[in-house]
Amino acid sequence: MKIIIFGAPGVGKGTQAKILANKLNIIHVSTGDILREAIKAETELGKRAKEIVEAGELVPDEIVAGIIKDVLSDEKSKNGFILDGFPRTVNQAIILEKIFNELNIADVKLVKLDASDEIIIDRIVNRLVCSTCGNILNKNLVTENFNCPNCNTLNSYYKRKDDDEEVIKRRLKVYREQTEPVFNFYKDKAKMIEVDGTNKIETVTNDIIERLN
Ligand code: AMP
Repeated sequence: MKIIIFGAPGVGKGTQAKILANKLNIIHVSTGDILREAIKAETELGKRAKEIVEAGELVPDEIVAGIIKDVLSDEKSKNGFILDGFPRTVNQAIILEKIFNELNIADVKLVKLDASDEIIIDRIVNRLVCSTCGNILNKNLVTENFNCPNCNTLNSYYKRKDDDEEVIKRRLKVYREQTEPVFNFYKDKAKMIEVDGTNKIETVTNDIIERLN
């Protein structure tokens, strides 16, 4: 199965993408995770992306498109993939179409998660991320001397720098202005499966799977 998952920051795309990747035995490709890893490892890519990501702005299209092309060309994508966080601009959607054509990738499903800005801001302000596996949890669930329920690392949860309330508002603005036009781009090309992202995690996953089938 080949899927692109859309939705505002904090709507639960990352959480759902990880679950779906596991269930469907496909790879999870998150441009945000790849950029954060590069920033942590202080690679050339990381150095270029750091300030932009931390300010809640978008990294230039050619950088993220290069990442996606490399991943989709790799053998690991052959069984299927779920793209999370790409495309985020109409230009990225056009580049992605070209990449799909070059690599003979067809029949890609589009899923979009919806939630109100209030819910999104509340979720992001309260979320923590595992620095080892990227698992996402609400900060109220993370206690002192806490082992990650996913990878078992001790005390690995941190708050993303771009999860600050001001930066979140900036990211939501960027989403409305630059990512929402992408839905128009796909309007006549493919069906967008729209799912309510405000429900419980398992309910959202079940809704997505049901609609994909
Ligand atoms: P995410 O984890 O998807 O919320 O992404 C975190 C940050 O990484 C974004 O706010 C951007 O700064 C950057 N980023 C991730 N994906 C893209 C993309 N497709 N285009 C540009 N910047 C991106």
